[in-house]
Amino acid sequence: MIQPGDEIVDASNCSVLPGFVDAHTHPVYGGDRLDEFSLRASGASYQEIAAAGGGILSTVSKTRAASEQQLIDCGIRHAELFLRNGTTTIEAKSGYGLNPETEIRLLGAIKRVGESTGLRVLPTYLGAHAIPAEFAGNRQGYMDTVLATLDTAADQRLALWSDIFVESGYFDAEDARRLAHRAKSHDLGLRMHVDQFGNSGGARLAAELAAASADHLEYTDIDGISALAKAGVTPVLLPASVYCLGLQKYPLARTMVDHGLPIVVATDFNPGSSPTLSMPFVMSLCCTQMRLSPEEALTASTINPAYLLGLGDKIGSLEAGKVADFTLWQCNDWREIIYHVGSTRPSQVFCGGKAIS
Ligand SMILES: [Zn+2]
Repeated sequence: MIQPGDEIVDASNCSVLPGFVDAHTHPVYGGDRLDEFSLRASGASYQEIAAAGGGILSTVSKTRAASEQQLIDCGIRHAELFLRNGTTTIEAKSGYGLNPETEIRLLGAIKRVGESTGLRVLPTYLGAHAIPAEFAGNRQGYMDTVLATLDTAADQRLALWSDIFVESGYFDAEDARRLAHRAKSHDLGLRMHVDQFGNSGGARLAAELAAASADHLEYTDIDGISALAKAGVTPVLLPASVYCLGLQKYPLARTMVDHGLPIVVATDFNPGSSPTLSMPFVMSLCCTQMRLSPEEALTASTINPAYLLGLGDKIGSLEAGKVADFTLWQCNDWREIIYHVGSTRPSQVFCGGKAIS
């Protein structure tokens, strides 16, 4: 019901959607990975580039060298691009510092980005993203540092979740158990990167640890999907990283939906494997590569991630009583936003009732 003082927005001839909720991003870091992009174009794989000193660790050295202000500026630039593409809420991970000082600086920068732009930003501590060079061959020692930094991040209220990259050559099940235990002691949720490059039983591990989400899942099989469904773990699928790495193996999204799982899709925005900030592009991949309907793609980009992030009663759908997060698009049928892949942006974005652009 319209009340005195309410703002009226003219949406004639427009489609109106809830602001997208991008529940998996890595938006604050030093430098870029454009040279690596060129290398991949000439045939090098993600793993080959990492073995040659590129990949995550090259971003780590540039991030350690960056000042807090440079990191904030990087995050603000990306926040503006998220908003311009219709995203009003993101989950943002640290993970390019890999030492206590830089990880805390990254989380501080992520907080400032949320305070100084219209974008709603929810922080995750991802110290267990890769093993830094100074801990090569000493994963246990590095995990001790990760847990100590998690204590600091929790004490300073800089993170809502803790995350870990479980993959051969990175972290294993025992590391994840240690992290889950410590996160629980701080009342923080657990997120997990699993089964991206091979099926290491990551989905079953996420189920065992009652993680809030299991992310990636490209190689997760039917047993893993059943375990997620049984344990109530939300799958977060990142098809843009499959596309950007030039790979073909997308997660079994159709099977997950058919198992009753409330799938979430996200950009996985990061400088290496998924440099896109566009949820319409991700929704296009849902429909063209993962056999989801446009309606399922939209649900996985709005209300499902809103619930994953604990904001389901406030955002993610157009309902009376919710926060006014919505976007206007110059089309009569909202499916054009997905159909015209790579060509659509909203004409107006409102976040928390305020016009952003
Ligand atoms: Zn990620």
